[in-house]
Amino acid sequence: MKHILIILFALFIGFNGDAATLINDTEIESGIAKIVVPIAKVANIPEDRLKIYIVRDDNFNAFVRGGEDIYVYTGLLKQIKSPNALRAVLAHELGHTIGGHMVQIAERMQNEMIRTMIIQALGIGLMVAGGNPSAGAGVMAGAAGIGQQSMLSFTRDEERMADDMAVDLMVKAKQDPNGLIEVFDQMRDLHGAFEDRINPNRINHPLTSERLNNAKTKIRNLKTVPKKSSDEVAHENQDYEILRAKLIGYLDSDKTVLAHYPYKDKSDSAIYARAIANMRAGNLDTAKTGTQTLLKRYPKSPYFYELLGDIEYQYGHYDDSIDAYEQSLKLSNNAPQIETALALVLSERNKPGDSERAGELCRRVILNEPSPLAYWILARVSSGATSDWAMAEFYKMNNDDKNAKKYAKSAQKKAKKDSPEYIKSGDILKK
Ligand SMILES: [Zn+2]
Repeated sequence: MKHILIILFALFIGFNGDAATLINDTEIESGIAKIVVPIAKVANIPEDRLKIYIVRDDNFNAFVRGGEDIYVYTGLLKQIKSPNALRAVLAHELGHTIGGHMVQIAERMQNEMIRTMIIQALGIGLMVAGGNPSAGAGVMAGAAGIGQQSMLSFTRDEERMADDMAVDLMVKAKQDPNGLIEVFDQMRDLHGAFEDRINPNRINHPLTSERLNNAKTKIRNLKTVPKKSSDEVAHENQDYEILRAKLIGYLDSDKTVLAHYPYKDKSDSAIYARAIANMRAGNLDTAKTGTQTLLKRYPKSPYFYELLGDIEYQYGHYDDSIDAYEQSLKLSNNAPQIETALALVLSERNKPGDSERAGELCRRVILNEPSPLAYWILARVSSGATSDWAMAEFYKMNNDDKNAKKYAKSAQKKAKKDSPEYIKSGDILKK
């Protein structure tokens, strides 16, 4: 089993370059969607149009593009004090969109960043791209400058308007607008630490304390301030802590994980983060024990089954890994990310029927939510024109035009004219 990880490692590592990385994770994306849906609704963005993207970057940042594509940085997700504060940040970003503030230069930089983005899944996908966090270091450094810039390219007036809009959206959605105050308090602490190294553009940027006062005044003048019951808040916070634990477990060093989640902490989130970190470190028995504790507490969680599947895969127990992913798939309503993990292990086990099932799963993923890994697995479990075309798509998604065209040419030679593989390979050759 180490074999496939090494091949994949080499393939994916070659692409990293200075591109930014998008993290593809159903559990985290749907968790954030739940937080943002209420404000998106009152901003007239239908739930099914809303798309959450997670940018692997340690900056405290988020932006909205085209009105319904929301990009949130892992730095913000890991550090933000509460889900309601996160909601306020996203309300502020939607405020820029509604106000039409998208400064051209920011849009251009964002487009450039998105064009070169690499998609990476957590779980098996992250192991593939190099389980150790330093593998992503270059990536993060490359993206950092861009992230900082886009946050700074709004004017003082635009920031104030977006803050006002954030309060309005929160109130309209029956959410506590004090989430915004929480964010400013936190930003003030963050900025304080970096005051010397601030970009000169920041001269245009309204000071956090000024924004804090504006927002406070605005909230004070409201007729009523929506407040949720303490039970509701506790529940929402607990759900969010699971997402935060997953990000920290996968993206941070063992030391950081244990600093956040020491062994005496027996909460769900602490056990989750430590199980993930232990799996990454190869302490599979400890990882499995933790995961089984979580499954005892939550026998219907698709994501704890997913983790169990990841761990069994690392052991080389393909049958157990496949059983766990099958459970996960059922409970998650066929999440593409879990279909991909299952396909990968099937392609590795390679018993009679495994290739066919893996191929089917990959085709479903490609239809719903294409990812480089799904194309790579499809290429692995098929042959001839299909395999070459899938490799061409894999390289195209990784912005490697040379190899994409090479494989597209080869696929066209093997494919029947007017077959789907022939036509799709033709599309790649045209660009
Ligand atoms: Zn702003």
